[in-house]
Amino acid sequence: MNQPVVAKFGGTSVADADAMSRCAAILEQHPATRLAVLSASSGVTNLLVALASGEHNPSQRAELLQQLAAIQHGILDSLERPEMLTRHIEEILNHIKELADSAAISPSKPLHDEIVAQGELMSTRLFVELLRRRGTPAVWFDVRKVMRTDDRFNRATPDLAALANAVTEELKPLCDRQLVVTQGFIGAANDGRTTTLGRGGSDFSAALLGEALGAAAVEIWTDVPGIYTTDPRLVNEARAIPEISFSEASEMATFGAKVLHPATLQPAVRRQIPVFVGSSKAPEAGGTWIRNSTPSQPLFRALALRRNQVLLTLTSQSMFQAHGFLAEVFGILARHKISVDLISTSEISVSLTLDSGAELLTQEVQDELARHCHLKVEKGLALVALIGNRMSESGGTATRVFQALADVNIRMICYGASPHNFCFLVAEDVAGQVIADLHRELLPA
Ligand code: ASP
Ligand code: MG
Repeated sequence: MNQPVVAKFGGTSVADADAMSRCAAILEQHPATRLAVLSASSGVTNLLVALASGEHNPSQRAELLQQLAAIQHGILDSLERPEMLTRHIEEILNHIKELADSAAISPSKPLHDEIVAQGELMSTRLFVELLRRRGTPAVWFDVRKVMRTDDRFNRATPDLAALANAVTEELKPLCDRQLVVTQGFIGAANDGRTTTLGRGGSDFSAALLGEALGAAAVEIWTDVPGIYTTDPRLVNEARAIPEISFSEASEMATFGAKVLHPATLQPAVRRQIPVFVGSSKAPEAGGTWIRNSTPSQPLFRALALRRNQVLLTLTSQSMFQAHGFLAEVFGILARHKISVDLISTSEISVSLTLDSGAELLTQEVQDELARHCHLKVEKGLALVALIGNRMSESGGTATRVFQALADVNIRMICYGASPHNFCFLVAEDVAGQVIADLHRELLPA
């Protein structure tokens, strides 16, 4: 098989034996899929993170371990407790207990990664057994053999060249012959110690492995049938989008839609590998294909909402006909590792929003800024992003948006920098209504 398909199953998709059976059925119906990348069963990583923190006393740890064991035993029971696997899972659970005891004495990042990695190591073992019982043989593969990373534990960065080589040597030949089941989220540093790619990292793993394998597609099976026109909790009429381009999808992710983390898509974008997002609970409902380019390029595709925005307005008379003021301001923000999101300027002032919320904007930073200008900080704002195509080239786009929002006070607008997005700030308390009104006007069914 030259171009296999990679399928990733998230935590809720492998939460228990019933959920795992639905994933097995998806694989059985798609023989082109040769690599399944799994998360830990739902809830497991959180328990492991708590155990790794070293913050709990022995009886709290026993309680956490008990919850962890209950999840694994539930699946083992459904599989009628095969002897070897049961012993293996018990060994892993004991190992976790010992590691958690060490973490309670002296927690460390490497130890943390060793502990949390056990979740994926267990879910993949259980899933291979479930497949075997269904008559779908698969091999278990330790992804640490190929997912080489640096040693920034908890947030390791993959070494793409090493990954590509190792995949060609060790994983590709296996996928050519049969279905392979492996772990998302985890990797190994050069010295062999276990690393992790950051919470939610399994999607990224799947895309990286897909890139290294030259996959025909990467499928992300989760608990929602694709990417929605907007958050269905805000708007009843929200619906799944059949296809969307990489650029639109990453704008959506950047602006708060709970789809895929933008970094997830990078490997797929590099190799132009189509990515599918669907629900393992309802595979027949279809899902969303994310591609390099899509035949349909509607002016308006989706709406995203990001709450808790901080708006900074810096005013300085010296900005008038002066140079270097903006460089000064951005220099201060950069020194404090504050990343700026939206910007809008006038003759004597500049407004900007901060990406990562208020915590970073300490009194120290505010004082430093205030030495150069007058500073105003506003909170309680939400960022609304309209995602689409060629919006800035199409006459009347802004009119349609503003007409739909005639009574709303729009605080700041960013329009034109990207043909794929048009965003603005509104007060937090009207944000839900703004999304609903825009959806009705711009994205009618
Ligand atoms: N199990 C890991 C987590 O919960 C990775 C993932 O699910 O993507 O963060
Ligand atoms: Mg997850």
